[in-house]
Amino acid sequence: MQFLQPATWSEALAMKAANPEATPIAGGTDVMVEINLDHRRPTSILDLTRIRELGEWGPVDGMLRIGAGVTYTRLIDELGDRLPGLAMASRTVGSPQIRNRGTVGGNLGTASPAGDALPPLLASDAWVELASKAGTRHVSVREFFTGPKRNAMRKDELIAAFLVQPAPGPQQFSKVGTRNAMVIAVCSFALSIDPGHRRVGTGIGSAGPTPLRAVAAENFIQGELDWEGRRPVSGATLNRFGKLVAEAAKPIDDVRGTAAYRRHALAVLARRCLSWAWGAA
Ligand SMILES: Cc1cc2nc3c(=O)[nH]c(=O)nc-3n(C[C@H](O)[C@H](O)[C@H](O)COP(=O)(O)OP(=O)(O)OC[C@H]3O[C@@H](n4cnc5c(N)ncnc54)[C@H](O)[C@@H]3O)c2cc1C
Repeated sequence: MQFLQPATWSEALAMKAANPEATPIAGGTDVMVEINLDHRRPTSILDLTRIRELGEWGPVDGMLRIGAGVTYTRLIDELGDRLPGLAMASRTVGSPQIRNRGTVGGNLGTASPAGDALPPLLASDAWVELASKAGTRHVSVREFFTGPKRNAMRKDELIAAFLVQPAPGPQQFSKVGTRNAMVIAVCSFALSIDPGHRRVGTGIGSAGPTPLRAVAAENFIQGELDWEGRRPVSGATLNRFGKLVAEAAKPIDDVRGTAAYRRHALAVLARRCLSWAWGAA
């Protein structure tokens, strides 16, 4: 196995251009599992851990640009106040050891429908910054996931960063698993409320071939919320919202749960997330 270890970002992009089949490795918490289980035998590995820029974050045009190599632990510690939904999801990822190594860039790279960082990124309408020797492009996270564990990244590209607005209002994330830690989601739900623009964003995890938005639920609730008086949401409205979220899911029966259970659980998660977030608003 060839081991490529660039020291700079431009070297990394040049190596990827010359070796498009090379598998990038960041925290390695997905890649190493795949190799250990013999699910993947890369001929070439591109180690990104020495690229300083990938571990940096900062404001860009009113958004936060967060390097693909920022770990979950750092996200929680350094950005938890600005990105509470993503921080909530990050706290549910694996164990402290996994959160110390694992990155959102790796979660985007794997593009699993069960990736916990992905529903909050959908709910916040985030962007993925992809780079190659030919240049940089930004892809909306809404268009990034193209199928189960597939994404819009070309073979010569790397994920440089993701861009997300600092939370404009309350955010929530909730996940169902067989226990509270070290668990892959049976299903999950993320919500972001933007009172200034009267918008609600949603993200569904582990209940479809890709992470999904519940567009009809977003449209419904935006028209129902009492943005002026901030009256509590009625039980009937919560139920309708939950039902629309459940209908947006495309779950299957698998070892972790049935499709029917996932729809039921998503309706519950959606109702809870909405009432908690609206209560905070
Ligand atoms: C014990 C255990 C528990 C876990 N629990 C959870 C959990 O609760 N929730 C969850 O969502 N995940 C969980 N995971 C999976 C994993 O930790 C996450 O998906 C994590 O975000 C992967 O990040 P990483 O940096 O380790 O990625 P890596 O393993 O280094 O890479 C993952 C994929 O992304 C690609 N990649 C990485 N960085 C880049 C880049 N900059 N540009 C292009 N491609 C890139 C790699 O080539 C690979 O395909 C768990 C894993 C383990 C081993």
